[in-house]
Amino acid sequence: MIAECRECHNDVSDAAPKCPHCGVRTPVITRKKRIMTWLVFLIALPLSLIGLFILFLILVT
Ligand SMILES: [Zn+2]
Repeated sequence: MIAECRECHNDVSDAAPKCPHCGVRTPVITRKKRIMTWLVFLIALPLSLIGLFILFLILVT
């Protein structure tokens, strides 16, 4: 699928690892990728907090 480069705003394939016009890496950040990044963040953050909490309980008791 053709999308717009985030740097030079030229047409570029959303599967292209590099923009053929300006050479920027990952020229197109798809909505799917953005949602995946947020999902990973939203899952990883509470998990690490829970992990720290458990570690704290182990250390204190
Ligand atoms: Zn570009």
